[in-house]
Amino acid sequence: MLELLPTPPTDPLWDLTYEFGGDERPERLNLVLGVYRDQSGTTPVMAAVREAEIRLAQRSESKEYRGLSGNAAFNQCLLDLVLGPDGPAERAAAVQTVAGSGALRLLADLVFRTRPGATVWISDPAYVNHRPILEAAGLKVRTYGWRDAAGGFDTAGVLRELADAGRDDVVLLQGCCHNPTGVDPLLDDWEALAESALRGGWVPFVDLAYHGLGDGLEADLLATRMLASRVPEMLIAVSCSKNFGLYSDRVGCAIVLGASARAVRHAETALQNAARTLYSMPPEHGAAVVTAILQDAGLRASWRAELDVMRGRIMANRADLTAHLGNLGCAEQARSLARQKGMFSMLPLTPNQMLRLRRQYAIYGTTSGRINIAGIPAHRIPCLARGIAAVLDT
Ligand code: PMP
Repeated sequence: MLELLPTPPTDPLWDLTYEFGGDERPERLNLVLGVYRDQSGTTPVMAAVREAEIRLAQRSESKEYRGLSGNAAFNQCLLDLVLGPDGPAERAAAVQTVAGSGALRLLADLVFRTRPGATVWISDPAYVNHRPILEAAGLKVRTYGWRDAAGGFDTAGVLRELADAGRDDVVLLQGCCHNPTGVDPLLDDWEALAESALRGGWVPFVDLAYHGLGDGLEADLLATRMLASRVPEMLIAVSCSKNFGLYSDRVGCAIVLGASARAVRHAETALQNAARTLYSMPPEHGAAVVTAILQDAGLRASWRAELDVMRGRIMANRADLTAHLGNLGCAEQARSLARQKGMFSMLPLTPNQMLRLRRQYAIYGTTSGRINIAGIPAHRIPCLARGIAAVLDT
């Protein structure tokens, strides 16, 4: 049977990561995957996570099945965290998922089940897995532009394109720290997007993967909370991979907001059904860790403080890279970089220049120009800037 399988496509980001693994140059720098690294180049286990794991091990609770929606306390904590104290909790439900990717897939299944003819609009460029996940759920995908010629958020262009979104359509928006561009709408732009959703009847589908790593936890959640307060229906995919450093534990949740309690109950059951046919129930460990942190004032404060340190390092790296590029005569290219937010920056380089960066300088970013700004040891920034300046020069 397997002999009949045609050559399947491979994941471009992991292909580059494996290529990096085989690169023996000592100066090699891996900026491909979106993973936070500290100054020593490691992705740390956050102190609050370590402490929560110790407490959980000491408690050693039963590992019995938790229920169809996963860990109920975790779901409540994430609803509180994402929607905030004044959020529309009475018309919301959350289902624990296998990280942000699992939430995206379950919510895509929900859209397909509810509106099989729906088109989901994604930004261009988008997170590399948005289209495959949506298409795997059977949905049609269309794109809308994201940046203007100056590298900022293209408010007018985005609103113009989304005016074509129909009442059956869904618009996927990244809540903060846009992957791959690092370009986010301002709050006024978000207000305009809410108006557009209300006028056009499309449903916002917010992907939250980097809250806490842009302007701060509360600030990064502002747009999502504002939308939740304005629109009757909304879908939110939440990842705990980056802001809790729980990448491999696969922690996240799918949140639905509906116009009535009945609709929300039905949506929750549909999400549970979708999970049952994919993996039955999500893993408990990471969700228990997040719950232990969010329910304990001390652990929560420690987590928030460490998250702020991570965010500060990302901001310092970006500022430093911008300054070095400026000193090397690339001030214009550096300007758009300076305004970007979160883990990623989009370099103004062509695929060929990115290839040269990899071949000549052992600096690995994606072909599209994306680099993980959170993955650079501070002392390597001058050499990264020199590599960028050199390939820009040709
Ligand atoms: N959404 C976006 C925008 C992302 O960048 C990512 C991870 N790179 C995810 C969702 C999914 O993350 P995970 O499944 O690891 O939680």
